[in-house]
Amino acid sequence: MRIILIGPPGAGKGTQCQRLVDLLRVPHLSTGEMLRAEIRARSTEGLQANRFMELGQLVPDTLVLGMVTKRLELADCRAGFLLDGFPRTLPQAASLDDLLERRAMNVDGVLELSVPRDELVRRMLARRRADDNPEVFSNRIAIFEAQTAPLLEYYARQEKLATIDGLGDADDIFGRIKIALGKFARDASR
Ligand code: AMP
Repeated sequence: MRIILIGPPGAGKGTQCQRLVDLLRVPHLSTGEMLRAEIRARSTEGLQANRFMELGQLVPDTLVLGMVTKRLELADCRAGFLLDGFPRTLPQAASLDDLLERRAMNVDGVLELSVPRDELVRRMLARRRADDNPEVFSNRIAIFEAQTAPLLEYYARQEKLATIDGLGDADDIFGRIKIALGKFARDASR
């Protein structure tokens, strides 16, 4: 299956991604992770990306697209993949559609992990990461709302969107995700 997981920072994407890759047995393609690996390797891409990431801003589309295109060409993606943190802008989504279409593929479904803003802030205060200071975190939420939320409409129009209530127990949330996967599979076989 080819699945996209979309959610604001702090929605619990990491936890659910782990469960999803275990269930679907597909590679987990997290652009945030790929970028952090580039930074660790001190590559040109990493150095370029770091300036944006430190501020909680999005890295330029061209840099991310180049990375994702290369990754999708690897053999392990043939059986499917789970995209996490990509696409994050409408141009990224349109480029992904083009990229897949050229390979006669499409996305089976898009999972939106939905969590209210006050809960995201509460969770952020309870954990800590370098880009988690309150100002940077608020910036990441604002960017999500401005740049990434429009993708929900984009995929809803393609009848691919499933909105998952991201509140509560991780097992319950995963239960809701499994129901949505069942629907994606039924839609694909129609
Ligand atoms: P994440 O681990 O998905 O929260 O991503 C961490 C940071 O990496 C984000 O705040 C962005 O600066 C950058 N990033 C990750 N994915 C993308 C993307 N698809 N487009 C632009 N920037 C990204």
